Amino acid sequence: MNETNLDHCEQIFRSLLWRLQPAELADAVERRSAEVCGMADGATPWEAALYIVSRRTRDETVAELLARSAGKLRSRRLIETTIAPLPPAAGPDFHCDAALGGLARWLRAAGYDAAYWPGIDDDDLLRKMIGSPAILLTTDRRLCQRGVIASRAIAALLVSVEHKKRGQFADVVARLGLRRRSPRCMACGGRLQAVAKETVRDRIPPKTYPWRDDYYICESCDRLFWQGTHWQRVEAELAQAFPGGFAF
Ligand SMILES: [Zn+2]
Repeated sequence: MNETNLDHCEQIFRSLLWRLQPAELADAVERRSAEVCGMADGATPWEAALYIVSRRTRDETVAELLARSAGKLRSRRLIETTIAPLPPAAGPDFHCDAALGGLARWLRAAGYDAAYWPGIDDDDLLRKMIGSPAILLTTDRRLCQRGVIASRAIAALLVSVEHKKRGQFADVVARLGLRRRSPRCMACGGRLQAVAKETVRDRIPPKTYPWRDDYYICESCDRLFWQGTHWQRVEAELAQAFPGGFAF
């Protein structure tokens, strides 16, 4: 399974299973993704394998949430109508509220597509979550008390405002058991593609050109990246949040 498909599997299973707060979320996500990988071969296309495993995971999640909702009719209705019965199309891994622009940038550096919505209305933010494979990251305790989040019809994580940006990032990584992936564009969350140095020569600052050979372009916003001093600082921070290490 290629990296894009694996990321899609993980985001679906992470957002479904996070609603149940399992003790080892990363392991549970990995097991379900591995099941899709194992099933997807020449005879079973990837989409069919994803459908089978994600549909079963969705039904198990809904059944467990309904059992926990103790017969509250409104919670029942929210859970049944908000969690998509079909595997959702790939989308952002996270929707971050207006206070979490810094966290969104760190998550992108760690390889996750984090959408950031400065100034968005609460209802519009919640609407983006309906049928989405994303997890909502918010600092708003009152928002988390809304029925659609309290019932876990929408997957959300309350991020502490007590933490500084880096503390928030380390906390989200630990609580969701995120693994470090290939970095994405920190400005928009797009995937980075390696490009030949010569093809972007006119976009490289003259002082940088002799010193760097590896360049990347964002598929979404077309920004050019290289591993300059800024990236080395980002790298040092990421190494602290992910002690296991990673090679770019
Ligand atoms: Zn970009």
